Amino acid sequence: MKRVLVATSNPGKIRDLVGAAIAHKVQIEPLPGFASLPSVVEDGATFEANARKKAEHYSKYAEGELVIADDSGLEVDGLGGAPGVHSARYAADENKLLEDSGNSADQANNARLLRELHDVPDEFRTARFVCVIAAARNGHTLATFHGNAEGIILRAPSGTNGFGYDPLFYFAEIGKTFAELTAEEKAGYSHRGAAFRAFLEWEDESRDRHPHKND
Ligand code: IMP
Repeated sequence: MKRVLVATSNPGKIRDLVGAAIAHKVQIEPLPGFASLPSVVEDGATFEANARKKAEHYSKYAEGELVIADDSGLEVDGLGGAPGVHSARYAADENKLLEDSGNSADQANNARLLRELHDVPDEFRTARFVCVIAAARNGHTLATFHGNAEGIILRAPSGTNGFGYDPLFYFAEIGKTFAELTAEEKAGYSHRGAAFRAFLEWEDESRDRHPHKND
């Protein structure tokens, strides 16, 4: 079975990618020793810049291997595209303690999002999740893959699956939030699922061109 090494410590991203990989008979594996590797400062101005930065940095610790990294976030139209590249740390300034402790960072971020949108009329609560996956080997990005998912930010959370802003992100096509879906279902509609499928297509094509590479 094909194996894909992922540079992330975010269990929500791993679950999403595992869900996306099921349909393709691909195995997702965290980069070995990821937790003990030096981290990278995600100070790029775009999702793509940060995805490349992470993939290039972490691929140096897995010589010869193809490593993917995801940078992603939520853009809300009524907030001029915020939180955007700051999605993971949206509430960090106002509540450092919460932000420092795993899951509760998600709750703090969601609380801030609801507060910022309190007076925003429904028609401006449109939003999209954006994901860029960068694939790198030995510190060099070989390609990047983009995926989007369009939705609406609810006024109260619904659902307990997923992570991050999933309980507030209503996906009209199926009438559910992303937190009301299994990881496999979410992957069928999500920004991360779309970017991952584009990555797999590229990888299959590059294997056809170089049949003995990465066997
Ligand atoms: P990153 O680790 O810098 O890429 O930040 C990603 C952040 O964007 C997460 O911590 C979430 O706050 C948000 N995010 C990205 N993708 C998703 C998703 O699929 N569901 C919910 N929130 C997401």
